[in-house]
Amino acid sequence: MAAFTEASLLDVWEAAHGLSGVRRALALAVAAGAEPAGVGDLAVGRRDEFLLALRERCFGTAFPCLVDCPSCGAELELELSSRDLRPSQVDSAPVLAVAGYEVEFRAVTSRDVLEATSRRALLERCVAGELPEAVLAALPEALAAADPQADVRIELDCAVCGHRWASPFDIAGYLWTELEARARRLLYDVHALALAYGWSEAEVLAVSPGRRRRYLELAGTVA
Ligand SMILES: [Zn+2]
Repeated sequence: MAAFTEASLLDVWEAAHGLSGVRRALALAVAAGAEPAGVGDLAVGRRDEFLLALRERCFGTAFPCLVDCPSCGAELELELSSRDLRPSQVDSAPVLAVAGYEVEFRAVTSRDVLEATSRRALLERCVAGELPEAVLAALPEALAAADPQADVRIELDCAVCGHRWASPFDIAGYLWTELEARARRLLYDVHALALAYGWSEAEVLAVSPGRRRRYLELAGTVA
């Protein structure tokens, strides 16, 4: 896939700015190529595959992370790769057999998350027909197994105290933090160089980042 230009990065930021949570994740998935009309009905893990691909196009395949150890509080610095964030998809049958019941189910979608008013309502949307208590209890685990990309967990161990745990990784939040930081930086550059030289946004973005820094230095406006 082609690299993302800075102008398209600003477009993506603008489209998702002002949205939050699931709606922002959907806007980012559309920017990555998901069909706008069908993106809400994709399994959450499928949607997040689009976000992972978008992140790789914008910022590469290395994911620097800062994580606090839940046991001793030490701040751990680590670098994940895209590979760590793509759990192997198991071809599990969308049928849950428990306590004599056999229930067909499907993965949770963004629309489910947006429209369900309770956790039970969310689970009910994923099965056809009745939802006996035994099935209700076993369903979350079956859903997670059927769509591992929807709930990525990273195995970590603390270098200070040796504590081991599985930390969730939220690609939507991670990508948005990066996009927002980059967009703010770009908007600052446009603002400062437009003031200093009278350039338009397109003219500023046409200058390579290295030269832009030099011009900002010359104009005395490096932040
Ligand atoms: Zn620790």
